[in-house]
Order: sequence, then structure tokens, then C-alpha cells
Amino acid sequence: MSSIDTDYLVVGAGAMGMAFVDMLLSDTDATVIIVDAGHQPGGHRNNTYPFVRLHQPSAYYGVNSRPLGTDSIDETGFNRGFYELATSSEITAYYEQLKSQHFLPSGRVTYVPVATYLGHNRFRTLDGSEHTVRVRRFRRRRRRTQRPAAPRRRTIALHDRGGRQDRHGHRPVAAAPRRPPNPRALDHAA
Ligand SMILES: Cc1cc2nc3c(=O)[nH]c(=O)nc-3n(C[C@H](O)[C@H](O)[C@H](O)COP(=O)(O)OP(=O)(O)OC[C@H]3O[C@@H](n4cnc5c(N)ncnc54)[C@H](O)[C@@H]3O)c2cc1C
Repeated sequence: MSSIDTDYLVVGAGAMGMAFVDMLLSDTDATVIIVDAGHQPGGHRNNTYPFVRLHQPSAYYGVNSRPLGTDSIDETGFNRGFYELATSSEITAYYEQLKSQHFLPSGRVTYVPVATYLGHNRFRTLDGSEHTVRVRRFRRRRRRTQRPAAPRRRTIALHDRGGRQDRHGHRPVAAAPRRPPNPRALDHAA
């Protein structure tokens, strides 16, 4: 069993994992290991519903660092007159290029395909060997702080405010004085 050090261990090279790693590369100096059960990035697009295109224009899909598609408008077919919708093979080709042209050349990403994540920072590769990942960075849990209870406020009539303060030094909240009765309403009642 080997042991590998990294800043982030990302399980899954689907749309989410790829977008997350892309963001790590642009916004941090972190190193990453991507472990994925599939043979290439793209997640479920590699093996499910190959006939289903994107439902939204290609330009709205993918990662921040590179556009998917050419932002062109289809001239034929059911989508004629609308922005192109990438096919599954276009999506997987896009993620494969992203991996080989951007992630790996950065020198900060290790990509492990056909590997199963076993939990507890361990994964198994195709040859049956198991590996442990030592993750250096992690999100620190925010400590729960106890806020002091807000002082209870007493409600008193406005004319009764005076210079009174409660034991915390707060002035009591004043209630609006009672409205005088509506004389027209009384006339009507009579
Ligand atoms: C038919 C269909 C059409 C869709 N169309 C659209 C669309 O047009 N627009 C849109 O925005 N969204 C669409 N979606 C939704 C979108 O594709 C998914 O929400 C998105 O792909 C999910 O990405 P993901 O990375 O979370 O998961 P996935 O794409 O499922 O990727 C998960 C990855 O994790 C890997 N993995 C899981 N467990 C392990 C493990 N233990 N060890 C190693 N690897 C593991 C898998 O191999 C896989 O590669 C569609 C979904 C479907 C099913």
C-alpha cells in the first residue's frame, strides 16, 4: 500500500469534480488528486444516456477556465435558431482536453482513472493495489460560539418611560399610547 500527500482529494471527475479542480487551480496554489471510477473524465456522460444532449446552451456548461462549444446558433434540426446543445461525446471530449491540456500540465493535479474510492482517504486502482491519501488542507470547522442571551425587554406605556433602565443599562421599549376611540365609529354603533 502506498501513501500519497496532497492538499485536496477529489473523488469523481464529473461536472462537479472538474469544476472544483478548475477553480482550485485558478484561485489557489493547491495540489490535487482526482480519483475516478471511469476511464476518462466527464462523469455519467461517459456511460449513461449517450443520446441526451445538454438541455441548455453549451456556453452555460463546463468550467470557468474554458468555454464549451463555439457559442454558435444551430442552422438545422430540432434546435434550429437556438444556441448549440453539446452532445455527450462533445462533453466528454471537452473534459478530456481540459484534463490533458490544463490540469496535468499545471503539475499540481494527479489524475487516477479506473480507481475506486473506498472511504477514509483510501482508494483501489485497477491492478488491485490500495493507496492512502494524506490530505494536508482541510476546512477547519467553525467553532460554535455561544452568544449571550439578549436582555429581556419590558414594555411600558410611553408616558411612563422616565429615565428608567433595566439591569443591563437598556431603556425599556416604549409601547405606542392607546388610540382614542374613533368618534364616527361610535356614532355608527349608536
Ligand atoms: C440524462 C441527463 C441529462 C442531464 N442534462 C443536464 C443538462 O443539460 N444541464 C445540466 O446542467 N445538468 C444536466 N444533468 C445533470 C448533470 O449532468 C449532473 O448534475 C452532473 O453531471 C453531476 O455531476 P457530478 O460530477 O456531480 O456527478 P457525475 O457526473 O455522476 O460524476 C460522478 C463521478 O464520480 C465517480 N465516482 C462515484 N463514486 C466513486 C467512487 N467510489 N470511486 C471513484 N469514483 C467514483 C463516477 O465514476 C463519476 O465519474 C443531466 C443529467 C442526466 C442524467
